[in-house]
Amino acid sequence: MIVTLKREADPSSIQRQLAERGLWAQRLEGGNRVYFLVEPHSQRVAGDAVMAIAGVESVAESPSAHPRVDAQPRTVRIGRVSVGEGAPPALMAGPCSVESEPQLEIIAAALEKAGATFLRGGAFKPRSSPYAFQGRGPSALRWLRDAADRHGLLVVTEAVGAEDVEAVAEVADLVQVGSRNMHNSALLRTVGRAGKPVLLKRGMAATIEEWLLAAEYCLAHGAPGVIFCERGLRGFDPSTRNVLDFGAVALLAHVLHQPVIVDPSHGAGRRDLILPLARAALAAGASGLMIETHPDPGRALSDGPQALPLAALNDLLSPVREVTHA
Ligand code: PEP
Ligand code: MN
Repeated sequence: MIVTLKREADPSSIQRQLAERGLWAQRLEGGNRVYFLVEPHSQRVAGDAVMAIAGVESVAESPSAHPRVDAQPRTVRIGRVSVGEGAPPALMAGPCSVESEPQLEIIAAALEKAGATFLRGGAFKPRSSPYAFQGRGPSALRWLRDAADRHGLLVVTEAVGAEDVEAVAEVADLVQVGSRNMHNSALLRTVGRAGKPVLLKRGMAATIEEWLLAAEYCLAHGAPGVIFCERGLRGFDPSTRNVLDFGAVALLAHVLHQPVIVDPSHGAGRRDLILPLARAALAAGASGLMIETHPDPGRALSDGPQALPLAALNDLLSPVREVTHA
């Protein structure tokens, strides 16, 4: 926002009045005029309220770069459930990678008992090494759908390349775009065209604006809704795999009113932090959690150290319910 002052106005009085409204502004001068350039960490204040300050001549607001995101309803509907403000927190859980049909059956049965809503699991895996397990592919998609249907769950799974999107969208209720792909505009377009709601993980070094723009791609190309998923940013400290950005969660939930969930599994990279980070996520305004779980984490084909054993899922859920009520 750029605020232009009348020639006779007192700039310091106006700057004070802007600050009283939570607007932090940089003073600029040119052509015998004073302007204030409002900083991005300011509060959201309507242009009309600024125009009402005596001495303000005009207010210029740049149009949003992501109008469809701004206009998105506060909840996204996926089949019979809603995710977002006011809806009960959604628990999306399952293995990092879908390994076998029996593995999924054990997990899906446990999730149904624990009260989870979504079964997650990668059929196509975006691995850092080309020699690491890359996922079971199309058969894993079928196993996911069947296990979810047997246990009344919805399916969320990732499309890694544009060539997977059609097959993924056929079985998934919610199509996941992973952190490594958040900037992949060709994939975002294809996922949008598939017409399914999207779970958009934040790039591990993406700004919030870039994240919102990635969602705009999906919505502009036909996605009926986008749920944001904070999964941690790359930091400097190897004690945790990533650094979960709860500031971003609070901003999306409380200021931008976007549906946002948190993935403490990839955020922490270690199972002993999942519970406290899950509580923190809900307290910050997250509308759900994505948690990796495995019947035998020591034998997991990917991300074993961060997988919760199935028995721990119930331990996770009761404090989660407490925080939700609080
Ligand atoms: C995942 O959820 O399976 C995954 C690969 O996560 P991320 O994209 O956040 O690394
Ligand atoms: Mn994983």
